Amino acid sequence: MCPHGRRLMQGEGGWLEPAKIVCHCWLIEGRKGLTLVDTGLGTAQVNGMLHGHLRALMRPKLSLAETALAQVQALGFKAGDVRNIVLTHLDFDHAGALADFPDATVHLHAPELAAAQAPITLIEKQRYEARLWAHGPKWQLHNTAGEHWNGFDAVRALGDSDDEILLVPLAGHTRGHTGVAAKDADGSWHLHCGDAYFFHTEVEGDGHCPIGLDVFQSVLAIDNAARKANQARLRSLNAQGGVTLNSAHCPHEYARAAG
Ligand SMILES: [Zn+2]
Repeated sequence: MCPHGRRLMQGEGGWLEPAKIVCHCWLIEGRKGLTLVDTGLGTAQVNGMLHGHLRALMRPKLSLAETALAQVQALGFKAGDVRNIVLTHLDFDHAGALADFPDATVHLHAPELAAAQAPITLIEKQRYEARLWAHGPKWQLHNTAGEHWNGFDAVRALGDSDDEILLVPLAGHTRGHTGVAAKDADGSWHLHCGDAYFFHTEVEGDGHCPIGLDVFQSVLAIDNAARKANQARLRSLNAQGGVTLNSAHCPHEYARAAG
């Protein structure tokens, strides 16, 4: 997504220059087939389903080649090989491609679907687009129940002890927002933080955030105090070391991950 105001949003570049906000998804090749963590924008959105105001504000690059489906296919897989999808939350840029993978089981923190089905605040009423899941995905809803991971509550979404994918509740941006933790084959842990933060400097150093992005995140948050508190916890986790964090939208973290 390329909204105007790169300097406001990313603390660098020109004031009117377009920012570069990625939609960072994971594709995990595990024992239970492929798992997609967040889906980015989907084929229908690229082909024109995106609301006019979102298009005007976020200015997404509408590229079919960049959809998760096209990238999965470019790796030699079929849509049906994606057996599971784990979502951080249901915003349009995370759940946008659910219909491209209609056979997948979709794992989600239960309070997030509850928020989408019975929105309370104005921002909740505006943000959720039921048409993104009108095809009726196979939801598998999870409630946290006493598991812990690195000091956070957690719930196992799928996997066994060798191949683990956990939902880590990080409420604030939305009611049921979670991170997704996954253990790599070499035993190292990664945490996809979704929209718990947007820019790498928020979990590195003193937590500074470019002013435009700070305002943007505060306005979109259903619970800004919880969002800030969770960001502080993520900053401590990052300082501790041993877990690689990424947000859904930071282009620097995406470039690092892409090598
Ligand atoms: Zn997002």
